[in-house]
Amino acid sequence: MQYVTLNNGVKMPILGFGVYQMTDLQECERSVRDALEIGYRSIDTAAAYHNEEAVGKAIKESGIPREELFITTKLWLQDAGYEKAKKAFETSLRKLGLDYLDLYLIHQPFNDVYGSWRAMEELYKEGKIRAIGVSNFRADRLMDFMLYNEVKPVINQIETHPFFQQIENNKFLRDNNVQHESWAPFGQGKLNVFDNKLLIDIAKKHNKTVAQIVLRWLIQRDIVVIPKSVHKERIAENFNVFDFELSNQDMEAIKTLDTNASGFLNHTDPEVVKWFSELT
Ligand code: NAD
Repeated sequence: MQYVTLNNGVKMPILGFGVYQMTDLQECERSVRDALEIGYRSIDTAAAYHNEEAVGKAIKESGIPREELFITTKLWLQDAGYEKAKKAFETSLRKLGLDYLDLYLIHQPFNDVYGSWRAMEELYKEGKIRAIGVSNFRADRLMDFMLYNEVKPVINQIETHPFFQQIENNKFLRDNNVQHESWAPFGQGKLNVFDNKLLIDIAKKHNKTVAQIVLRWLIQRDIVVIPKSVHKERIAENFNVFDFELSNQDMEAIKTLDTNASGFLNHTDPEVVKWFSELT
């Protein structure tokens, strides 16, 4: 496994396993069990995914020493604010069956993120969380956050895939020593990534699949990636990306696919912000 070193010195696997939309808890538990058996050590969940207990069960059953694992969960925006964040953290920890977290993220850049961060900073200093970060923050919000908080976020987890490559954001994060983490590397399977001719051609050339090309492309950009699948053979396929390399020519060709636009949601649209406020 390849690791990145976060700005507080903590090492994180560059490839992990995401469990968004795994609402069937038995399926979630089995998928995480499969992922751990295949060799994944980093798992990305969230309070809002409503599957932390299933993730926790799979972790416990695996018998893998705690220090070998890297577990991320996220604070939902309805739990924002100092007091609520402290409570939400304890709830997540209990559901996961853990006594510390490796990474805790503010899931959305809305509501009282400053109050949440105060709580997260305290938990970090108490050693209950090894690293704290954010998700879905635009560069301007992140700059504001870095300027007016004591502890700097280690990571920003943002939508990043071949059609939304986040080239400017990647430079901004790099320049500010905040790790870029991709969500939806495959566009959640909804944006026809797997039918893209250019990606299919590159995959054929390397005797790999389109999924493997996309993950390798992100890894070669030093972006942490957490693909999701509930199928054991795909979970294994997505893990098998360290035995080949994309050429500069491949990397440049993939650049041409960028539309520089979200395939899902515009976090700057006031109606989207309102919609989020109604989610639990
Ligand atoms: P993804 O891009 O990882 O796509 C998953 C889908 O791709 C699968 O459901 C399947 O349809 C397809 N797929 C996976 N492997 C495949 C393979 N080898 N061959 C063919 N098809 C394959 O989407 P995602 O789950 O949304 O993103 C990954 C993770 O990122 C999530 O599980 C979650 O942990 C995280 N995430 C975070 C946020 C956030 O707001 N912070 C938002 C979305 C996702």
